[in-house]
Amino acid sequence: MSENTQTTGKDEVRWISTVPFWGCHAIAAWGLVYWGWSWAGLGFALLFYYVRMFGITAGYHRYFAHRSYKTSRIFQFFLALLGTLAVQKGVLWWAAHHRAHHRYSDQEKDIHSPRQKGFWWSHLGWILTTRYDATDWARIKDFAKYPELRFLNRFEFPVVIAFAILMYAIGGLPLIFWGFVVSTVFLWHGTFCINSLAHLMGKRRYQTGDDSRNSMFLALITMGEGWHNNHHHYQYSARQGFLWWEIDMTYYILKGLSFLGIVWDLKPAPSQVQDGKQTA
Ligand SMILES: [Zn+2]
Ligand SMILES: [Zn+2]
Repeated sequence: MSENTQTTGKDEVRWISTVPFWGCHAIAAWGLVYWGWSWAGLGFALLFYYVRMFGITAGYHRYFAHRSYKTSRIFQFFLALLGTLAVQKGVLWWAAHHRAHHRYSDQEKDIHSPRQKGFWWSHLGWILTTRYDATDWARIKDFAKYPELRFLNRFEFPVVIAFAILMYAIGGLPLIFWGFVVSTVFLWHGTFCINSLAHLMGKRRYQTGDDSRNSMFLALITMGEGWHNNHHHYQYSARQGFLWWEIDMTYYILKGLSFLGIVWDLKPAPSQVQDGKQTA
């Protein structure tokens, strides 16, 4: 598939097919007014937020987009499934588009650059149009060879619906409201902040050719992805918080999983790279 197939649509927002996206926002707002605040509910929202955020950060991003560590085919599938439950489209779609972001960071062909098209476009506009709907197969040949991943990539929405139904069956309306609807809305915006705010807000340690920045706040809400300037400086590292105080929950969990033999070959950022003497 050629590179151009991903840009056949228009930049206009498709209001009808994005009803589930706006609908979750509306239901979350309505429910908070109607049912009111609940600390237990917040606990469920945070639990399902961070569990699924790990699917995005460790799975979709550090494994599928960057291959920053290795794992078994079974755990690979588990990571793809966990990421799918975060409701951010299919694993191959996500990873291929993210590879394009690194290829053209903040240049004209970057698909979600605040420098090119402003904050709202980089945050969610690019996702809500038809322009980038297709999976860019040419960029994800390495994982597209697995039929189970192609299946998840194609049927991501039914998988999400099945997950929501399961939550309703287990915990009724309170669980699906807090654990799925509210949690997913925060999960969307938490992740989207890396495309928008992580290129606008924070400090730049490395003079990368883009506007990527490091932010403790963004690192805390995204389990370590807020060290985005580090990441653009050296995208192959499984660890994005280079310094001891740069909290990177995803990496700590991956390190724990490596002790258990579930993942291995976590790629480090070489010291000369961290010193800024070498890029890759
Ligand atoms: Zn970026
Ligand atoms: Zn990346």
